[in-house]
Amino acid sequence: MFPAPPSDRRKASLQIDFLIVGASVSGLTAAIGLGRAGHRVRLLEKESRVARTGAGIRLAPNVVSSLRRWGLEEEIAQVASPVRGSRFIDMDSGAPFAFIEWADKVVKESGASWYALNYKDLIEILHRNALQAGAEVVTDASVKRVHSPQSGASLLRPSVTLDDGRTFDADVIIGADGPYSTVRGAIEEQPTVPTWSGVLCFSSLVPIEGLKQDPLLRDLSLCTPAFCGTHRGLGGYATRGDKEYSIHLFWEYPIELPDNYDPDFPASDLPPLTAPVTDLVKRLVSVQDKTDIRRWMVWPLVQTWIDESERIALLGEAACPHIPYAFHTASNPIESATVLATLFSYLRSIDQIPQFLRAYEHLRRSRAEEISTGDSQTASLWTLPPGPEKQARDEAMRHTLAQEHATWDDVECEKQWSQISHIWLYDGIDAADEWWLQWGLLREHALLAESPEAAAAAGVRFDGLRIRVDA
Ligand SMILES: Cc1cc2nc3c(=O)[nH]c(=O)nc-3n(C[C@H](O)[C@H](O)[C@H](O)COP(=O)(O)OP(=O)(O)OC[C@H]3O[C@@H](n4cnc5c(N)ncnc54)[C@H](O)[C@@H]3O)c2cc1C
Repeated sequence: MFPAPPSDRRKASLQIDFLIVGASVSGLTAAIGLGRAGHRVRLLEKESRVARTGAGIRLAPNVVSSLRRWGLEEEIAQVASPVRGSRFIDMDSGAPFAFIEWADKVVKESGASWYALNYKDLIEILHRNALQAGAEVVTDASVKRVHSPQSGASLLRPSVTLDDGRTFDADVIIGADGPYSTVRGAIEEQPTVPTWSGVLCFSSLVPIEGLKQDPLLRDLSLCTPAFCGTHRGLGGYATRGDKEYSIHLFWEYPIELPDNYDPDFPASDLPPLTAPVTDLVKRLVSVQDKTDIRRWMVWPLVQTWIDESERIALLGEAACPHIPYAFHTASNPIESATVLATLFSYLRSIDQIPQFLRAYEHLRRSRAEEISTGDSQTASLWTLPPGPEKQARDEAMRHTLAQEHATWDDVECEKQWSQISHIWLYDGIDAADEWWLQWGLLREHALLAESPEAAAAAGVRFDGLRIRVDA
């Protein structure tokens, strides 16, 4: 079922030290790729445990395909549930108004499924594979300050100081420390300051058995409902091989509570319980015990992903913050991590670090921002207030209701594929490989033409029709 991962892991000719701040989705994925390329990777995580808590998280087919190439798909599939589409339901009346499903043919064409996982399971898989790839994870390591190398002092390396005074240095530092990144704070001229949208997101995981025992909820446990109201919504989906159910509730809330991934907000205080919403939503809310909380923040674009010394870079939500619990919160950072790691598998000289970091930002910035903005727009579309826009949305979607349980014809499949192939066909490993073939090798050619001796000393040599780069 799962094609064997390629045995020809490409080792970088020059293997260097990476320090990654943050051991969550983006940091751990980068650690796997960089470790596979032979680099020495140390992750610093401020919490005392990796994967301590979480709710549901989704992976897009294209990142599942990339992770397959690193041999991770089987582990993911074992703890995931496939996601096929959503039934959209009016939150106030309980009436379905749209149905969106990915056709079988389209899923097949993409080469993988959408998967829903328990965040902790995903992190455990990434953590295990990062350790297997040789990475070291230091917990209770909260980074307080980040120091660029002194300009002109090429032998110096960037370093960090922890809250407890310990210091670590490396050839490259990656800030994978989330949306409120300390590393970003150290490299940007103007801080990236978000504003609160007024909406909070409450999330939890519950055993699916509880839903199945409720005659009203049984049907919902088998599909992926999206309840839509005015600046509020509730989405649910199965995870962990359909043993658990993840619930994300978005709600305009009167107080800006702090983000807290520990589920300690009592479900009995959740606002739908006292609001005029459909009984289905009240029942789904009351199967929970406690929820975690994230604020839906509106972030300006991060101005720079790389520091002036070109030895420190941002990754994942540190580079491109996302609305919480959206479709691509995990996939977008994973795409970036696969690009970064693949570029550095071509490293043969320390002088290439700036070029590779610039290539990484060039390859990733616009796509990451496009995906993040797209997720925010989708969420806004499904939570429109009454008015002409909402009316237009509902009218445009009405015909989809008839598609539930329908067979898709080729024309419909092609139409769907043309809408999503741009997102689903992207492979971060291929994107980085293509850059190397188009631009990276060009520089090697130039070096060779300019001075064969200097090129040979740098490890570049002409080998028949191919350029080879040796250590
Ligand atoms: C505990 C936790 C649970 C989550 N649960 C879910 C979920 O259930 N569903 C979902 O869709 N998304 C969840 N997310 C968010 C999701 O991981 C991100 O939206 C996305 O995948 C981007 O990941 P990231 O690695 O860039 O950033 P994040 O996931 O935010 O990870 C940043 C990491 O950096 C660490 N860190 C921060 N500052 C420092 C510092 N100064 N020094 C050292 N380490 C630092 C954090 O502890 C964290 O481990 C969760 C995130 C966390 C941290």
